[in-house]
Parts: sequence; C-alpha cells; structure tokens
Amino acid sequence: MKIIILGSGLLGVTTAYELGRRGHEVTVIERQPGCGMETSYANGGQLSYSHAEPWAGPSVLPKLPQWFFRNDAPLVFRPRADWQMIKWGLQFLRNCTGARARGNCVNLLRLGLYSRRQMTRIREETGITFDYAAKGVLHIFSTEKDFDRAKRQLEFQAKFGCEERVLSRQEALALEPALSHTSRAIVGGIHSVLDESGDAWMFCTALAKVAAERHGVKFRYGVLVNRLRTDGNAISAVVTDQDDLTADAYVMALGSYSPLHLRPIKINLPIYPMKGYSITTEAGDACPQVSITDGTHKIVYSRLGSRLRVAGTAEFAGYSQRINDRRIAPILRAAKELFPKANWNAEIKSWACLRPSTPDGPPIIGATPYSNLFLNTGHGTLGWTQAAGSATLVSDLIDRTLPGISLSGLTMERYA
Ligand SMILES: Cc1cc2nc3c(=O)[nH]c(=O)nc-3n(C[C@H](O)[C@H](O)[C@H](O)COP(=O)(O)OP(=O)(O)OC[C@H]3O[C@@H](n4cnc5c(N)ncnc54)[C@H](O)[C@@H]3O)c2cc1C
Repeated sequence: MKIIILGSGLLGVTTAYELGRRGHEVTVIERQPGCGMETSYANGGQLSYSHAEPWAGPSVLPKLPQWFFRNDAPLVFRPRADWQMIKWGLQFLRNCTGARARGNCVNLLRLGLYSRRQMTRIREETGITFDYAAKGVLHIFSTEKDFDRAKRQLEFQAKFGCEERVLSRQEALALEPALSHTSRAIVGGIHSVLDESGDAWMFCTALAKVAAERHGVKFRYGVLVNRLRTDGNAISAVVTDQDDLTADAYVMALGSYSPLHLRPIKINLPIYPMKGYSITTEAGDACPQVSITDGTHKIVYSRLGSRLRVAGTAEFAGYSQRINDRRIAPILRAAKELFPKANWNAEIKSWACLRPSTPDGPPIIGATPYSNLFLNTGHGTLGWTQAAGSATLVSDLIDRTLPGISLSGLTMERYA
C-alpha cells in the first residue's frame, strides 16, 4: 500500500519505520530540514512506561490556584481569548475526578507497557544507538504527603502489572549517590524498574536512516503541509507548498499542529500545545546515572551519554515556541540545588517546545470518519515513551490485523 505520513517527529518516524518494515511504500512529509526537530528534539529523555498518572486528577485541583499565574510554578496558564484553550481547560477539569483519572491511568499504563515491548523489538531489530540506558527511573519526593500519594498510586498500578519498588531515603541515595550532596529534603523514593531513558532526537535520526536504507522509506524534508483534500468519506490528496501528493492511506502525526489540519475537514480533536522547557549540559561526573523524576517539582533528569538533560514545566500560551528565560530559571535552580557538585560552568543549551496534549492524558490513535485517514497524535508528556507502541497499533489498523492491545480509551471515539 502507498502511505503518506504527515510529520517526522517521534510518532511519524516510528510509524514510517513500522509500515516500511511491513513492506508498504511510505513517504514522510516534514517542514523542517530533518526529522525530530520540533517537540521530539530535546525532551526529558525518559521512557517512563510506568508513569501512567495523568495530569488531570483530583490531586491537581487544590494546587491549581497556587500554580495559576506564578512564573516558577510547574504549570502556568496564560489566559487568552482562545476558545480552543478554554474548551481544553474545561475538559481537563472534567477529567479531574478520581474515577476518570483511574480509567485514564489504566489506559496509559496499558499503552506504556505495550510500548516497552515494542521498543525492545525495535532496538533488537535495528541495533540503533541513542544514549539508551535501562536503569529504571527513580522518583524522589520532598514531602511525606507527596510520597504517600505516590505510594497509593504504585499500589493501584501494581494491580495492572506495573513493577515499582518503594525506597527509603537511604535506599534512594544508595541507588543514585549523586543525590547525597543536596540540601533538599528527600523523604523517600520509588524506583520504576521497568523504565528506561535515551535521546529522542538521536533515536529519530537513526531510525529514519534504517527506515530509508533497509525499507525504502522516503523522507521529504522542507515540505509544508497546507491542507488535506477530501472526496466524500476519503482523503484524496495532501496539498503542500510544493505539490499535491496522493496515497492509499494517510497518517496524521503533526503533533500540536494536527488539530489545525483536521478542523477544516470537520474532525475536532482536543489537542492543545502545552509548552515545556529543557536544558542540556556536559555537567560531569557528579550528575545522576539513573534517570530521576522530582515528583514534588515535576522536573525530570536524564543522563544521555556524557550529557545531563533536565526538563519540565507546562505553560499554556498558544503556539509560541519562544524560549522564556523566566521559565528556564526554575529548572536550572532546581537542578543546581539537587546536584550542587555538578559542573554548572559548562555551556547550557536551553530549549522549548510544544507537547501535543489531550485534556484526559492518553493520545489519540486510530481510525477517523475518513476511511483512509489514521491518527497518531496527542501524546502530550509521554510521546517518547509511547512512540513504539502507538506506531505498532496504527500499523496494525492500517494492515487490518488485530492490534496487540485493545484501543479502548485511546481513540477519538472517547470524545464523541
Ligand atoms: C520539555 C519536554 C519534555 C518532555 N519529556 C518527555 C519525556 O521525558 N518522555 C516522554 O515520553 N515524552 C516527553 N515529552 C513529550 C514528547 O517529546 C512528545 O510527546 C513527542 O515529541 C511528540 O512527538 P510528535 O511526533 O507527536 O510531535 P513532533 O515531534 O512535534 O512532530 C511533529 C512534526 O510535524 C512537523 N509539522 C508540523 N506542522 C507541519 C506542516 N504544516 N507541514 C509539515 N510538517 C509539519 C513538525 O515540524 C514536527 O517535526 C516531553 C516534551 C517536552 C516539550
């Protein structure tokens, strides 16, 4: 089958690889000069399959008023006359009940654990390198309240096959000795032993190369998708700034920009850009070897080869990708406080990008009302984690084979 994939971020590249490997004739359309250059470029690096707690949940509600307009808060809303943002916010609040958060958590966990299996397969099939590490993710907590809540979450997730260990403060410091120099309170930790880490951009670049060389996938960079043309209940072409392209099937993987191209053809998806920031530095030996999530401050740390990546914050401010130094400052401050002996004189590269976020948490995968249009988008904070599983599921649907897990709660039907 001839298939066009729109976008070459993590989701586009992984889907292109998977469909190419199955013998399809695949072309990827991307506006940037290479793959993985937008949200998949410098993310937190965590393959956090066990991290299945959606942002929308009862515990976030009491924190919202303090977070709302504070510049150093983990989540910032910049209110604006933007109907999509208001609608998204209302849907987010609707998902903050315990029952909905638990349902979304189970769906995220199913997809996470399935993605782990698919990622293992892709690594073994391709042999690509991307500063991968399989040391788990260590979650640390500064308050007993946050720690207790995380332990309850662990007990819930354990019922669905998630393996995590509760650690005392001493055990957490023994697992990651670089933490022992901090003056920050650490009351305990949780080790998500199944989790991994790696550089998403390196992965995209290496996988795209394998897809092209071994499976004939064509990557057309520097091509802007303008719109989708329809004919009845099918897509008839992708109209770009260069030419009109046709295929038997089309996969929407334009990240935060997906809804902008779907709305004109009457598909309304609640995906809104949630801006996040990261810094990357060669911070030396006094940096963590194990990937860390600071559960209290919502900041993640990943060792990527010789580099340290620190990422966090969520800002709702439309489509601007501008780096706001006032949002970088709390990330850097938290990192220096947690790892005071790291080499903070080294050059620090700052980055910002837009997570394609759904109000309930899970991505939007699968069929649409158009017979030949498929979705692989809306992965929010977990697109690196879920890329391998999502790509396999979408490819199964295109191939009309039974997907490896149920798509319940992962398709656009949940918003009908
Ligand atoms: C600060 C931060 C930290 C994160 N940390 C983690 C983490 O630790 N673990 C994790 O699992 N996830 C993490 N994420 C989330 C993850 O990075 C995203 O979910 C993922 O990158 C989304 O991939 P995507 O392919 O959907 O989007 P993108 O990577 O944005 O890809 C979409 C592509 O479409 C292209 N495009 C858009 N419009 C057009 C057009 N009109 N024509 C042609 N091309 C177009 C873009 O150029 C882009 O390359 C983080 C995100 C951020 C911002």
